[in-house]
Amino acid sequence: MTTIQANLQLVRDRMARACDRSGRGVNEVTLLAVSKTFGPQAVAEALAAGQQAFGENYVQEGVEKILALREMLPVGSGSPVWHCIGPVQTNKTRLVAGHFDWVQSVDRLKVAQRLSEQRPAGLPPLQVCIQVNVDGGASKSGVTPVELPDLAQAVAALPGLTLRGLMCIPDPVTGFDAQRAVFMRVRDLYEMLRAQGYALDTLSMGMSEDLEPAIAAGATLVRVGRAIFGSRG
Ligand SMILES: *Cc1c(COP(=O)(O)O)cnc(C)c1O
Repeated sequence: MTTIQANLQLVRDRMARACDRSGRGVNEVTLLAVSKTFGPQAVAEALAAGQQAFGENYVQEGVEKILALREMLPVGSGSPVWHCIGPVQTNKTRLVAGHFDWVQSVDRLKVAQRLSEQRPAGLPPLQVCIQVNVDGGASKSGVTPVELPDLAQAVAALPGLTLRGLMCIPDPVTGFDAQRAVFMRVRDLYEMLRAQGYALDTLSMGMSEDLEPAIAAGATLVRVGRAIFGSRG
């Protein structure tokens, strides 16, 4: 077994224990393997171990990897599902819309409109999450809870996009209860939108260091990089 395969098993075990402790089924939480800075070979190894969803932060790097994997994989093998999880500038929307399956980091209407317009007609709608900022200053990515309802309404109406849920990257805090409390604020916003009738199924929160409190707060997708691929140097 390779290191990546062994690490994947450890992460899956952590997720299973966290689900168990909060009375949730293991199938309720998806693992997104964050492969930023690692090469196509690392992705191929994780794929061979049954990992399907991959996250990239940097658009150019992500697109190169997506194309490289397409070349590497034998026809008929399972293909990866690619999530863009980093900031998207307006001059990168065409690349994102043309190559990724998901964008988790939508936080501006302008970017959402461009992604929708530029999504190629032959592809299914781009699956999107709105990134929310529940704890940071104005300089941080993500909409504030006050801005969220209007953006959700506008994004849900765009034909090239399907709104699936919310994503957050809280500032680091110490201690399980404090971490869980921040994630609960995002969970509350998610439940508020669902109560308003949005058919959301994705609450993306938790990384290598804090996936347990995120799962305890209701995460349906955790984004894990270093615990799978090693430190990014
Ligand atoms: C890098 C990154 C991750 C993964 O972080 P790790 O600490 O390596 O698990 C998750 N989400 C986002 C948005 C990231 O940029």
